[in-house]
Amino acid sequence: MGQITLSGVTKRFGETEVIPPLDLNIEDGEFVVFVGPSGCGKSTLLRLIAGLEDTTAGHISIDGKDATGLPPAKRGLAMVFQSYALYPHMTVRKNIAFPLRMAGMAKDEQDRRVEAAAKVLNLTSYLDRRPGQLSGGQRQRVAIGRAIVREPAAFLFDEPLSNLDAALRVGMRLEISELHERLKTTMIYVTHDQVEAMTMADKIVVLNAGRIEQVGSPLELYRTPRNLFVAGFIGSPR
Ligand code: ADP
Ligand code: MG
Repeated sequence: MGQITLSGVTKRFGETEVIPPLDLNIEDGEFVVFVGPSGCGKSTLLRLIAGLEDTTAGHISIDGKDATGLPPAKRGLAMVFQSYALYPHMTVRKNIAFPLRMAGMAKDEQDRRVEAAAKVLNLTSYLDRRPGQLSGGQRQRVAIGRAIVREPAAFLFDEPLSNLDAALRVGMRLEISELHERLKTTMIYVTHDQVEAMTMADKIVVLNAGRIEQVGSPLELYRTPRNLFVAGFIGSPR
């Protein structure tokens, strides 16, 4: 579960081709980081995978099945939004259970999943609080909890830490990496931050104007950047 293949995936907004035909394979369990400068198409690519945008051309398959036309809810993936997407009037428990409630899941199964997610995220003693009574890091964990309860084939993160202060960001990076080690679920993580990419990724996808400049492990990209763009972006010595 969690193998994702893009074949010739293309996105145009009107006349503008934001993603020229692109091929990419993501293996089950990989932590993949999409990195590149602002406006290069990272969010668009993630939203195409999530089904939040329609592809102009090409195909997306998830675990060997064609998912190209499927709505987001049918793809078995979970997008983690920034913590400000929480509902302020709902308790942590209700916030985390929200997608399950929407799906009409039985209450006892909802409870079981929320308790399990809270345990993984060290939120058990905060379940009856509201987001306003939590720290920034705790709020971000609630946002992740809301994804975990869906037991997705992959987690999709779009710059989830960009509105946290620098110290908290470092801590949350470690928490997300640890979560990946525990769950071993595919994660796709979008960032414009090279340090985040280099420290978190199994595989980095360097994007520039919607094109893949290079795909490789952090060490491969550092040692053998394919071109000056990658070298400059990764901070490689050559
Ligand atoms: P990134 O996440 O890397 O900063 P985006 O994927 O948000 O980049 O945007 C890539 C390009 O697509 C940008 O030029 C942006 O202006 C354009 N774009 C994104 N969404 C839309 C949209 N809904 N309509 C028109 N253009 C868009
Ligand atoms: Mg973006």
